Amino acid sequence: DQNISVLDPEIAAVLDGELARQQGTLEMIASENFVPRAVLQAQGSVLTNKYAEGYPGRRYYGGCEQVDVAETIAIDRAKALFGAEHANVQPHSGATANAAVLHALINAGSKILGLELAHGGHLTHGMKINFSGKLYDVAAYGVNPDTFLIEPEAVRKAALEHRPDVIIGGWSAYPREIDFAAFREIADEVGAKLWVDMAHFAGLVAAGLHPSPVPHADVVSSTVHKTIGGPRSGFILSKQEFAKKIDSAVFPGQQGGPLMHVIAAKAVAFKIAGTQEFKDRQQRTLDGARIIAERLMAPEVAKAGVSVLTGGTDVHLVLVDLRHSDLDGQQAEDLLHAVGITVNRNAVPFDPRPPRVTSGLRIGTPALATRGFGDAEFTEVADIIATALTQGAATDVEALRARVVKLTDGFPLYQGLQQY
Ligand code: PLP
Repeated sequence: DQNISVLDPEIAAVLDGELARQQGTLEMIASENFVPRAVLQAQGSVLTNKYAEGYPGRRYYGGCEQVDVAETIAIDRAKALFGAEHANVQPHSGATANAAVLHALINAGSKILGLELAHGGHLTHGMKINFSGKLYDVAAYGVNPDTFLIEPEAVRKAALEHRPDVIIGGWSAYPREIDFAAFREIADEVGAKLWVDMAHFAGLVAAGLHPSPVPHADVVSSTVHKTIGGPRSGFILSKQEFAKKIDSAVFPGQQGGPLMHVIAAKAVAFKIAGTQEFKDRQQRTLDGARIIAERLMAPEVAKAGVSVLTGGTDVHLVLVDLRHSDLDGQQAEDLLHAVGITVNRNAVPFDPRPPRVTSGLRIGTPALATRGFGDAEFTEVADIIATALTQGAATDVEALRARVVKLTDGFPLYQGLQQY
């Protein structure tokens, strides 16, 4: 029974290195966050040893009395947090949750209609080489080429043309709220089921700072690790009518044994998501994104050919448009990385550059809000990013890096954490 530092120093070094990386840089990947210690504790616990195929009280393995408690609490908290009739907390990830949703709602060969991948949709919403693109007949709606907004009229037009069995609302890269009531109407008009994937904005919904899809959609899927800031995993909410189908699509339809250590960690995350502190953090997340968007729309930034898609944001991320900038997405990502800010390049709709390069950046604020950042810190971060994107290759990287270090030093992360 050896400590990992003795048994496997190479992997221990990765744990140390990654902790130092997270502590010493500004994490602005929109889908990332920092879990609290309580989540690390549940996830790094002996619950990882337990097989528990089935559901609480209906398991195919003995010895489930403790993990049943954890899963029941996680289900009850998820239902209460989002006002849902049914919750399944077993999906290992957002992608497996989505696979289960489609498995539950339709048969192979049925038609699905989702947001175009290149316009901010997700792989599991019908990408060609994803299971969703292989098993189902895929149609897509896109954003308006002038406003970059998802317009209900365009969704309706696509729905009437393609007559899908399932309409998908939700996105991986889109900076605005979508009109769930309009999606419901369209689904009813064409006799489709409505599935909303709120993986990105679930934390905002939990805090009451974003409209909830739950009253409108038949099924809502999500991850737990983005705005919610819990363990890397997924869950599914649904109307009671779909409860049985969803449960059997997750197990045995998609998965074997659930990850009970992760389910316990989800319960912890859902508990935290019901607090005022969580709500305040989601508000700082939104305020931070708005501050960054506004700074990146200043005249001198515009002069450098940099702009913000849709002219702002309602959510936790900003999409930077570099189509008219000398910097492409890859170069901008690399430049910010050198400064100590981690973001990801992202194709913008109608992107003229290839997908490996792109003409955009996706910049998110959830992790820094969790780190404690408020308006003053986000204003400084916004200025650092604006300076780099405006100056490009001429950027004084060392000077900006020093400003980043001041921020990371001022807001210590996982202070005193003993990983092993
Ligand atoms: N759905 C959406 C909208 C996402 O953005 C993502 C994550 O990128 C997923 C699903 C998939 O989540 P995971 O990476 O946990 O499989």
